[in-house]
Amino acid sequence: MLGPVILAASRSDRMRRLITAAPVTKQVVDRFIAGETVDDIVPVVEDLTGKGLQLTMDVVGEDITTPEQATAARDAYLTLIDRLKDLNLGERVEMSVKLSMFGQALPGGHELALANVRPVVEAAAGIGTTVTLDAEDHTTLDSMFAVHEELRKDFPQTGCVIQAYLFRTEADARRLAASGSRVRLVKGAYKEPAEVAHQNKHEIDKAYVRILRTLMEGDGYPMVASHDPRLISIAQEMARTAGRKLDEYEFQMLYGIRTEEQLRLAAEGHRMRVYTAYGTDWYGYFMRRLAEKPANLRFFLRSMVTKD
Ligand SMILES: Cc1cc2nc3c(=O)[nH]c(=O)nc-3n(C[C@H](O)[C@H](O)[C@H](O)COP(=O)(O)OP(=O)(O)OC[C@H]3O[C@@H](n4cnc5c(N)ncnc54)[C@H](O)[C@@H]3O)c2cc1C
Repeated sequence: MLGPVILAASRSDRMRRLITAAPVTKQVVDRFIAGETVDDIVPVVEDLTGKGLQLTMDVVGEDITTPEQATAARDAYLTLIDRLKDLNLGERVEMSVKLSMFGQALPGGHELALANVRPVVEAAAGIGTTVTLDAEDHTTLDSMFAVHEELRKDFPQTGCVIQAYLFRTEADARRLAASGSRVRLVKGAYKEPAEVAHQNKHEIDKAYVRILRTLMEGDGYPMVASHDPRLISIAQEMARTAGRKLDEYEFQMLYGIRTEEQLRLAAEGHRMRVYTAYGTDWYGYFMRRLAEKPANLRFFLRSMVTKD
């Protein structure tokens, strides 16, 4: 049961200092983080879209502590969108944002996050694409859904994420499916207490399937975000049964994970979107990737002891 321990460490400043300073960490981080700057990321975008993949871009960062950092996060996305304009890729490259990075946890954070994210959504619409609001820990979700609803009044394509491990999610899925939203379904990546979330993998998988059915049979646009082969075939079958065409739902996976499978699904004609994270504040994102798969942690620890 290493996952919860790693997720607890993802919130520890001491561990953050230790791990980010470790000389070999960077090599392992590079598997999941596509670059540090906009200049690094533009060739990655060109390469992946050239292979028939679609992207959702994440400028890594979360848990900021000052309004200035929230403004800097907004500006980082605006710079990225400005660079994407020249590539003319439209909705093939969308943005994923974490509202915590836009100031959600600061005093007056709900309004602050909304004020910071709105210009990003506007700029994305200006280049023919959209934004999806990531789901963070359960205490932030009422605010995230309220921001989502507000943004959809002007930008109905704005998407949001729901997490199958939370008990609340089946009701959220029914509401969102009925309102015609773009909804990304994930299993869930945070450490959540038993009062609010399934703890057992099998229960989470069963909940994922139930929620997926609600989305596939509803009026929205389902974004099936998982690397789990079983869930991917179930999603294909459900989409067929619900009479959805290939452009009426999409698959999503993370940069660096099951890359061959991403290309295979795209070659079969599926919309396959890769969540592509970049930036320097990668600690929280990286630790969640370690927590998802013990082999990642073993690889990371091995790289720390064998330095060459
Ligand atoms: C596009 C996308 C966006 C996401 N957005 C959010 C979000 O907003 N909020 C949130 O809480 N979570 C988010 N997640 C993470 C998600 O909640 C899961 O933690 C993650 O996807 C692992 O679950 P899985 O469905 O792939 O299934 P799992 O059962 O965890 O994995 C299935 C198989 O996939 C492979 N795999 C999975 N994870 C890894 C990994 N880290 N390294 C190597 N191989 C791996 C392994 O082969 C594993 O056996 C997102 C995931 C994706 C794909």
